[in-house]
Amino acid sequence: MKCKQIISELADYLDEALDPILRNTIEVHLEKCKDCRIVVDTTKQTIEIFCNSEPAPLPASTRLRLHEALAKHLRRVRA
Ligand SMILES: [Zn+2]
Repeated sequence: MKCKQIISELADYLDEALDPILRNTIEVHLEKCKDCRIVVDTTKQTIEIFCNSEPAPLPASTRLRLHEALAKHLRRVRA
């Protein structure tokens, strides 16, 4: 699996809404890929901060913005 695919599944991964097989694939990738690990850690922290101030799940618009920010971040990391 490529980094791009990891990032595209990341919102669901962090939501724990992901297919267990796909989830496992991502975890295997994360063990080997430092770049993606950094993205996941940063995103987790962001979501935790967000959830502490608002107990509701991430609205779709926020998820989309987060997703876009991550995609941009990944392009920078890979550049
Ligand atoms: Zn990666």
